[in-house]
Amino acid sequence: MGVETNSIARNLDRVRKHIAAAAERAGRKVEEITLVAISKTFPAQSIREACNAGVRHFGENRVQEWESKRPSLEDLPATWHLVGHLQSNKAARAAQLFHTIDSVDSLHLARKIEDAQKAAARVQPVGAAGAGSENRRLPVLIQVHLGGEESKSGVEEADLFSVAQAILELPHLELRGLMCLPPYAEDPEQARPYFRRLRELQEDLRRRLRGSHHLEATLPELSMGMSHDFEVAIEEGATQVRLGTALFGSRKTK
Ligand SMILES: *Cc1c(COP(=O)(O)O)cnc(C)c1O
Repeated sequence: MGVETNSIARNLDRVRKHIAAAAERAGRKVEEITLVAISKTFPAQSIREACNAGVRHFGENRVQEWESKRPSLEDLPATWHLVGHLQSNKAARAAQLFHTIDSVDSLHLARKIEDAQKAAARVQPVGAAGAGSENRRLPVLIQVHLGGEESKSGVEEADLFSVAQAILELPHLELRGLMCLPPYAEDPEQARPYFRRLRELQEDLRRRLRGSHHLEATLPELSMGMSHDFEVAIEEGATQVRLGTALFGSRKTK
C-alpha cells in the first residue's frame, strides 16, 4: 500500500507541475484550473489516497460504479462529478450521488435532472441541515458534440444556444459551462482545434445570452483535456482538466 500511495502522490506532483507550466505558457493563473481526478475502474482506496495527497475533485462515468464506491468515501472533503453519458432513467440517482453533472448531453436529460432535484427539494424536512437547501441548484455542464467528433453524445453546436436558454430557465439547475470529449489522437496537437472551438462557443454563447437578458449566465467552466492532451487544453482555456491515467495509471481493459 505504501508504494501505491507514493505513486499516486508522485503522479499528482508531476501532473501539477505540467499544469503549472501550461498555465504559465498561456499567461494564466494556475488557480483558474481545477484538476478533476477520473477514478473510474479504480477502487475506493485509490480515491482515498488521491484525496490524502490533496485532490479535491473526482469524476466517475457510471452511476452504478460510483454508487458502490461512495459509501466508503462519505467522509472525504471532495466534490464528486459525473462525467459520462447519463441515461435519463438514472437521472434521479445521479442527482443524489453527484455534486455536479458535467456531461448533460440533451435538454431531455436536463429536464429529468431538474425533475429529480425538484422532488428532492420537496422532501427536505423543514430546518434540514444547510441553509437554503430547499432550493439547492445542481451545477451542470453541457457536453457539446463538436463537428467532426465521432462520439454520438452531446448537444449539437447549432442547438447550443436554445438548449442553454432552456436550461437556464430550470430553477433547480445551475448551468456552469461546457464540456467536450474530442476523439483520441496520438498527437495532442490534433485536439487543439476542438478545444479552441469549445472556447469560441463559450464566448459566443455568453454574448448571445447577455443579449437575451440572461445576465447571470457567465458560464465560467470549460471542462476539456484528458491525460494525454490536458496541456494543450489549458493553453486553450480549460478551467477543468479530467485526468485518469496520468494519476492512477492505466486502466485494465474490460
Ligand atoms: C475516462 C475519462 C477521462 C480520463 O481519461 P484519461 O485519458 O485516463 O485521463 C476523462 N473524461 C471522461 C469523460 C472520461 O470518461
